[in-house]
Amino acid sequence: MTQQLDNDVRASVRPVIPHTELSGFEVLGEDERAVQQALHGFARDVIRPAGIALDKLTAEEVVAPGSPFWEFLHTVVTSGIEFDNAMEGVPPAAMARLQAIAVEELGWGDAGLAVTLGAGAFPKMMAARAGNQELVELCTGKLGAWVGTQPDRGSDGLSLYPSERHAAATQGNKGNLTARVSGGEIVINGQSSAWVTNGPVAQVGLLTIAADYGEGFFDNEGHPRGVEVIVPLDLPGVSRGRPLEKLGKRAQPQGEIFFDNVKVPVRFALSLGDDYWRGHAGTWSTAGVAMSQIMTGLARAAFEYAVEYTHERKQGGALLADHQLTQYRLGNLARKVETMRSVARRATDYTFLSPQKHPYYTASAKVTCTELAFEVADEALQLFGGYGLTREYPMEKLFRDARASRIEDGENNLLAMKFGVLNSMLHRAGKLHP
Ligand SMILES: Cc1cc2nc3c(=O)[nH]c(=O)nc-3n(C[C@H](O)[C@H](O)[C@H](O)COP(=O)(O)OP(=O)(O)OC[C@H]3O[C@@H](n4cnc5c(N)ncnc54)[C@H](O)[C@@H]3O)c2cc1C
Repeated sequence: MTQQLDNDVRASVRPVIPHTELSGFEVLGEDERAVQQALHGFARDVIRPAGIALDKLTAEEVVAPGSPFWEFLHTVVTSGIEFDNAMEGVPPAAMARLQAIAVEELGWGDAGLAVTLGAGAFPKMMAARAGNQELVELCTGKLGAWVGTQPDRGSDGLSLYPSERHAAATQGNKGNLTARVSGGEIVINGQSSAWVTNGPVAQVGLLTIAADYGEGFFDNEGHPRGVEVIVPLDLPGVSRGRPLEKLGKRAQPQGEIFFDNVKVPVRFALSLGDDYWRGHAGTWSTAGVAMSQIMTGLARAAFEYAVEYTHERKQGGALLADHQLTQYRLGNLARKVETMRSVARRATDYTFLSPQKHPYYTASAKVTCTELAFEVADEALQLFGGYGLTREYPMEKLFRDARASRIEDGENNLLAMKFGVLNSMLHRAGKLHP
């Protein structure tokens, strides 16, 4: 069959091999291809080796002085690579494509380290989006974190509307990390969950937490009031928990951050008072698309490994790749990676271009991409047979990393439910199919 296939593509009367890019069946512009190639090289030479090395360490060792984590961050800084939502002179539509192309490469290198870079840049990106130069400068050169979840507030922190509460619940959930806002000051007390990406090492945090402005934590619908505030994490009263040991994305450090009467001026808030919920929705929309882009990269990596392996391994008297069953399975993997990329790109475009974006839509893209990434990693591992389970091959790590993403940035069942909520809202507003 191999000889016949080679003959088929060589014979002039047959369709030629189609045009493809690193990112599959599309045609990139020259600038786009240059960005892709540069980041691909960086992902191959720096991100992937660092991710593999860090995956083998304990959580404490990952963040210990001299670990490959610090060397990795140093190389990122000296290479000038940065997560960005805007570049001077680049229109939003072009920027959306560039970001999606670039971040897919980072995820291809290592999904955990890609999230570390994304979360690391997030406070600065959101300060820039708010046009707040003082906060941009405060975040520049610092590794960031997005501090939203708490021990008693996981999925609850993602409820934008009072109607999402259980019928028997009289109030929403203010969680264990809260702010009091008065006299030009924000005073923060409590702790984050152990899940905060970069928690053990971040230098600046974007906190998305419940707030009391002098009238209690809950509004007249029983929904918590809130604040989005940027907090330097070297202030008095900030301390950290131990780095979290976990199944996947082990290169991405996570851990608790504690706040004991930590004070910042009100001008460090990105959204507060009546602007909070819309501000938070905008912030969350922006975060959501990165997960889709990163996980497209992870799935592509798993697919590429599977293609390579099936062209080396012989069973049943032929290369695995020459069995029709394998061709069917590879086709399904490729189809899923193409689907993920399309969904990730569409959500990115919408987030950059929509006059009224919404995180329940971008979260739906996150669900699609992370579920498909898990399916792709699982089936790619299966194509390796028993070798797929061993630590000598890359598949079991990709599988673990993909598994983590189904909970990261919102648990997928809950996020899918929220997309249902959004579609009902649109229907009731007569806008589902205007
Ligand atoms: C790799 C990774 C990175 C992360 N990074 C960050 C970060 O940078 N910053 C941050 O703040 N957080 C971070 N998180 C936390 C993440 O956002 C939460 O884990 C996620 O939102 C789910 O919250 P939870 O773990 O408390 O689960 P819970 O909310 O307790 O959910 C447990 C189960 O209950 C179900 N459930 C919850 N609510 C309901 C309901 N109303 N009805 C029915 N079922 C329900 C869920 O579907 C789930 O299956 C990260 C998590 C992971 C895994």
